[in-house]
This record gives sequence, structure tokens and C-alpha cells, in this order.
Amino acid sequence: MTTGSQEHTRPVRVGPVTLGGGHFAVIAGPCAIESTEQLQATVQAVRAAGAVMARGGIFKLRTDPASFQGLEERGLAELARAELDLPLVSEVTDPRYLEAMDPLVAMYQVGSRNMYNYALLKELGRTRKPILLKRGFAARIDEWLLAADYLHRGGNEAVVLCERGIRTFEEATRNTLDLGAVAYLKEHYPYPVVVDPSHGTGKRELVTTMALAAAAAGADGLLVEVHPRPDQALSDGRQSLDPAAFAALMGRLRRVLAALDRTLHELP
Ligand code: PEP
Ligand code: MN
Repeated sequence: MTTGSQEHTRPVRVGPVTLGGGHFAVIAGPCAIESTEQLQATVQAVRAAGAVMARGGIFKLRTDPASFQGLEERGLAELARAELDLPLVSEVTDPRYLEAMDPLVAMYQVGSRNMYNYALLKELGRTRKPILLKRGFAARIDEWLLAADYLHRGGNEAVVLCERGIRTFEEATRNTLDLGAVAYLKEHYPYPVVVDPSHGTGKRELVTTMALAAAAAGADGLLVEVHPRPDQALSDGRQSLDPAAFAALMGRLRRVLAALDRTLHELP
């Protein structure tokens, strides 16, 4: 992969959305899809507030095997009935699910725990669907870029990097959001870079501040967890915004982007 300046970002198209196209794109939705109704209601709310893509996990890789693992296979059948008017990014945890996920998902997410899963990366390299490649929570930037090379070598050039925080000695936040990595990548590499301030902080009261900082650091967009009732969420409620807080974030983001001479990616 050759180096390039911020102006040389290679845009990635996801349906009507362009990531890294010069404007700032916001992806939002629940950590985990809990039901078709929950997903549809959340997507409707985040779209109204200005998000251009939806997120939501069907397969959740949880540290605790006793916690909610996502709707899994039964979710695939249930979601086939969902009507979403935003393209969906969802994590693929196992190549065996690729075929079943294909009609539902516009972009595959590789989660932090799977950044080093080279068998999965090779399989995704063979697909032509765009990939959101999250940074491993203990990965150096060079290791993260080599994971992206696995996708490229398979022939899939539609790769977007997602900074989601790394594990450090600090315990006040869930992870340490590395915005220095974002500035570095934007300076030297052509990948679009999206920032996840939800996993990056683990605390909803920090999400908006770090989202605004991500825009100033040169990110191409955000991945934000939003739940209609965060206190009842089956996963990551502590870091999820409710729709009103997300709309407030978007209002402040628009003002910060204007001050940076940048614009928000909007859909008609
Ligand atoms: C997620 O996006 O919900 C997720 C599980 O993220 P990560 O892989 O970064 O922990
Ligand atoms: Mn989550």
C-alpha cells in the first residue's frame, strides 16, 4: 500500500453512501439488533437526525459467554423482513455466515477481536462487499494495516478502517481512543478512517465530546451506538446514546464541521 496525503483518500462506496469522499459520514444504530422493531425504530431515528448508514450486530462476540450473543441465525431469518432505508453494516464473525448475511448487509464489519483472524480476512478478501476493519484492541497501527493488506491481496479494495480504542493501563475509560492514530493514518495512507467513540470510551457521557474530537482529528466519519432505551439494552447500554442525545450530537457536529470547513454527508 502506497502512502498518500489526506487529499488522496481512496473513497469507498456503500450503496448511496461514500466513505472518505471528503465529507463526514455518520453510521449509527444499536450495538446488537434485538428485534426487527428495535432496529427499524432506531434506524428511523438516526436517519432523521442525519446518519447515512445503520449499524447493528446480529452475531455478537462477547467476552462473557453467558451474555447475549446476538439474534444469531434466527436473526438472519427475522431480519429478512426488516425495512430499512439506510445501508446496514454488521459484523461477520465466521465465514460460514457470509452467504446468509449477504442480502441483508451492505458492508461487513470485522470486529476488534477478529482483526487477527487471517482465515476470515482471506475469505472477505474474496468478496466484493466493502469491509469496515476495526482495530484490534492490542494492535499496533502497522499490524492493523497488514490486516487490511490481507483484504487487498484477495482483491477487495473497499476497506475502511475503524479506530475503536486500544487497551492501555488506563481503566477510567473502557478503551483509550487513539485519535493520534487517526491523524497519522489520514496523513500517510489512503484509507477512509471512521472513529467509534462508543467502544472508544465505554461511557455515553464521553461519546459526543470524542465524536467532535474525531472530526477535528481528520476522521472521515463516526460509528456510534444508539438504542431507543439504553438502560434496557442487551449489550453496551452504558455507552449507548438515546435518540435525543444522538440528535444533539449531530447538531453540535454540524457546527464543528462548519468551523473545520467540512460538510456532513447527507442523503436526500
Ligand atoms: C461493536 O461494534 O459492537 C463491537 C463489538 O465492536 P468491537 O469489535 O470494536 O469491540
Ligand atoms: Mn457494542
